[in-house]
Amino acid sequence: MSAQSQFGVVTDSETLRRLAEYKGIWTYAEVESGQLTEVSLELLTGARSIAKKTGEQVASVLVGQEVERFVAELSAFGADKVFVIQDPRLRSYASDSYTEAVAQLTREKKPSVFLFGANRNARDLASRLAGRLNTGLAADCIKLEVNERGQLEQIRPDFGGKELSVVLAPRHRPQMTTIRPGSYRKQEPDYSRVSSSEYFVPKLSENHCRIKVLKNVRQPIDPSEDIEKATVLVSGGMGLRSKENFELLRRLAGLFGNASVAGTRSVCEKGWLPSSVQVGQSGKTVSPKLYFAVGLSGAIQHLVGMQNSEIVVAINSDAEAQIFKVCTYGIVGDLFQVVPLLIDEIKKVRVERKLMRETVTVGTPAGDP
Ligand SMILES: Cc1cc2nc3c(=O)[nH]c(=O)nc-3n(C[C@H](O)[C@H](O)[C@H](O)COP(=O)(O)OP(=O)(O)OC[C@H]3O[C@@H](n4cnc5c(N)ncnc54)[C@H](O)[C@@H]3O)c2cc1C
Repeated sequence: MSAQSQFGVVTDSETLRRLAEYKGIWTYAEVESGQLTEVSLELLTGARSIAKKTGEQVASVLVGQEVERFVAELSAFGADKVFVIQDPRLRSYASDSYTEAVAQLTREKKPSVFLFGANRNARDLASRLAGRLNTGLAADCIKLEVNERGQLEQIRPDFGGKELSVVLAPRHRPQMTTIRPGSYRKQEPDYSRVSSSEYFVPKLSENHCRIKVLKNVRQPIDPSEDIEKATVLVSGGMGLRSKENFELLRRLAGLFGNASVAGTRSVCEKGWLPSSVQVGQSGKTVSPKLYFAVGLSGAIQHLVGMQNSEIVVAINSDAEAQIFKVCTYGIVGDLFQVVPLLIDEIKKVRVERKLMRETVTVGTPAGDP
């Protein structure tokens, strides 16, 4: 996607000189519960795709206490450089101290682009930082592009998800974006990659550290509802007709390891599924290897949440349903007939494969591989 209009064309030499001072694609590496968040690693894929076009270096910013142990991981997932801000007062996330520390680093180093995950704390930090640095922030983006002028095109769903808007920050730097988790797939780690690290000591006064976090209490997540981590998702829509009928989708999901049942907003609003498993614009963004879209129409607000799935299998009785425009495999038919057949077929293939493996093992003469 490219902004065709003249919007964003900057010609005055003073602004161009100022913009040219900003270099580097940065990501915020968020640490939560003693580990890097998934979206922090996904951001590196987005950052690398921009860097490929602009020729800039990708750097991550790590903030906290004893966080240098994450440098190797960030490097393996695509960072060329890691800035480490360590201070006992930054042990837990707090808006005022983190904003001040990261603002000081950003002012000094002047990155061109700064990406954050659209998580609760990172969203808070990004918006405060944008205000502090007097730049813009495109929130909740799902895709990034670079236009012919080298500007970052920050793409986000708008108007209730009916449109995709392209946001530009032609006169301000850094170009700041929050990206929804699952919008990018993290790349295969390469632990032979080595990145440089640079320690930064922020000047923090008591005034910058007014919030003291005494204790972090985690709400336990039911693993079956952790749909962002599932490899296989069986997602259902209004075509299921009732809460009880979702048992059919649970049977299908049960055939795969690391699989969960998810659904559209309509079914979550009906109370057929909990809202934590809603996929889409006002739900979660997911990118499983396999996504079954069963009895759901494929409204744009749903599609923006699952379009990065590797393989999409759609089952719908209406051959004209939107979901068939985005699926890898489409089955036109009644889900109450198709899903049981699919379950039987998968079970049959599994048994045949197991038998074949046993036959090969039994039939292989000793000494042969
Ligand atoms: C601001 C805003 C935000 C939104 N956010 C989200 C969001 O995050 N996620 C989301 O999902 N939606 C969201 N929506 C709602 C979205 O616009 C759609 O209304 C919703 O996704 C439709 O859900 P559905 O596909 O389950 O139902 P429907 O559109 O009613 O589709 C049901 C489908 O089932 C098929 N069907 C019926 N019976 C059978 C059968 N026996 N066998 C096979 N197929 C059958 C039908 O052909 C139909 O295609 C949002 C809307 C707005 C305005």
